[in-house]
Amino acid sequence: MIIDCHCHAGKGDRMTAPWNTDAPLGPYLRRARAAGIDRTVVFAPFHSDYARANAEVARIVARAPDRLIGFAFVHADRDAGRILNMVGRAVRDWGFRGIKVHGRDAMPTREVCEVARAFGLPVLVDVIGQAHVVDMLAPQYPDVDFIIPHLGSFSGDWRAHQQVVDQMTRHTNVYGDTSGVYRFDYLEMAVRQAGPEKLLFGSDGPWLHPAAELHKVKLLGLAAADERLVLGGNIARLMGRARPRPALRPALARATARPSERAAVEKLIHSDPALAPPSLADYQL
Ligand SMILES: [Zn+2]
Repeated sequence: MIIDCHCHAGKGDRMTAPWNTDAPLGPYLRRARAAGIDRTVVFAPFHSDYARANAEVARIVARAPDRLIGFAFVHADRDAGRILNMVGRAVRDWGFRGIKVHGRDAMPTREVCEVARAFGLPVLVDVIGQAHVVDMLAPQYPDVDFIIPHLGSFSGDWRAHQQVVDQMTRHTNVYGDTSGVYRFDYLEMAVRQAGPEKLLFGSDGPWLHPAAELHKVKLLGLAAADERLVLGGNIARLMGRARPRPALRPALARATARPSERAAVEKLIHSDPALAPPSLADYQL
């Protein structure tokens, strides 16, 4: 099964560039189907209100639940104090399986990481070339998986690529995605040094063509089992790491100091036996 771990869906509201204006999925879904991509992780484009943007992504996922898997986009600063509720809703009500953070908004805070840990969700964080941040995050939250898209830089900063490949090698919980990486040697380096279990196929659709991005992975010429990991096995494994319920309580409680949030947490835990993410059985390869 081929899973694209990085695609945008829905509308942005700033309208100054494609990535904050519109991420229409129609052409992407046609291209992905033709390329043999079975499932796609989707999250919002840049938005001034991610609670609204996530709800739009949920509606899009609901229209193609056999093909789309949602991640909750959060702004670590602007959404401070409500990240737990935003992610909790996305997991419980919409079946979302991860968190997206963009460094251009704000880098992940402890609140984001605690919520990720509590729900057992991977965090896909664009570090916009500031790869040193990964060396802060990864050791602080060794049980949270961080996916670094574009090997650290969409704009092809080779220093960031170098650093992220090194971090993927040193930290068991750091992964890289292939989306938009045009300096091919760094993809090869990632597989060779960090291993095929650390690299994830992503397209950054709908703006990049998923077949072109997929072809890059094919060009790595990996052994079949290794290629399967990069093309879907790794992201399926990361999305399938649901934490046991008792472990949720302390982490959720730490996630925020606000009494009102804490009450909401307790309610969430006690009222919803299905709080832990649903089975990922259908994503297994
Ligand atoms: Zn993207």
